[in-house]
Amino acid sequence: LIQLYAPLNFLGMAYREIKQSLTDMEKMFSLLHENAEVRDAPDAIALDTREASVHFEGVNFGYDPKRQILHEVDFTIPAGHTVAVVGSSGAGKSTLSRLLFRFYDVNQGAIRINGHDLRGVTQASLRAMVGIVPQDTVLFNDTIYYNIAYGRPGASHEEIVEAARSAHILEFIERLPEGWETTVGERGLKLSGGEKQRVAIARTLLKNPPILIFDEATSALDSRTERAIQAELAAISVNRTTLVIAHRLSTVVDANEILVMEQGRIIERGSHRDLLAQSGAYARMWALQQSESEREQEQAAEESTPLVLAS
Ligand code: ADP
Ligand code: MG
Repeated sequence: LIQLYAPLNFLGMAYREIKQSLTDMEKMFSLLHENAEVRDAPDAIALDTREASVHFEGVNFGYDPKRQILHEVDFTIPAGHTVAVVGSSGAGKSTLSRLLFRFYDVNQGAIRINGHDLRGVTQASLRAMVGIVPQDTVLFNDTIYYNIAYGRPGASHEEIVEAARSAHILEFIERLPEGWETTVGERGLKLSGGEKQRVAIARTLLKNPPILIFDEATSALDSRTERAIQAELAAISVNRTTLVIAHRLSTVVDANEILVMEQGRIIERGSHRDLLAQSGAYARMWALQQSESEREQEQAAEESTPLVLAS
């Protein structure tokens, strides 16, 4: 038990979570397995949370030594700036967020926060500093209250309700027969992809960390809810160091820098304007998404116009 408890505790999870079900057990073990290589160095330092610059330096990485995924990835997010990453599925975008959270160590190069190589800082201080809204959120088999409150132990009831409101999940929770006490997860109420994303967003709003990662954080939401939540996300990322991985380009136009990835490499970079002027991959993606959204709008307009029947 001691052996099991120590790494679980470092993940910030309590023993009762793994006891609850075999499914959770398997998740824990796969998490632990993933983390087997990542240990605090004996002289690891705690990060200073007052500042937060992020630096990827010539990063090469593969999950498997035989298949390299990232090639010479170089970029900086100065403290308080937002860098966006776009590119097709499988390009390596989510891998960047997993490396920044140090689920894995890089094979070559380095990732630094405030100049400190992640391999030389304590994982507890790293995880306190970075908040992530992942592509797929795993919920604990516990109440929806617990699942949001988990973002910041010690948060007040009002703060938890406020986070739920900002993430547009409060009304949903209040309409449930058991409200905040509803059990969710594998053994409880199964939430849709969009509901899970909103729980993850509420958790992260509550945590309010200096470094934010949004990994297609609103991809499972309908476009109206997405626009509403985008405004909340934009508001919390002001003056915070933010890495946004986006599938919808309209959400990245204001980023300080946009990186376009293809097959593990950065193939273009610059502001939205710079990239349009380059008439390259980004400009093509933009043109494609513009024509798609025009088509969607036309369709929506047609559906909402009452038919005038000839008499
Ligand atoms: P994106 O987020 O851009 O869609 P990912 O970073 O998730 O891409 O994946 C990049 C590549 O790494 C893909 O080819 C994917 O199959 C592979 N990959 C992702 N996660 C793992 C993993 N845990 N083990 C092995 N390969 C992985
Ligand atoms: Mg991804």
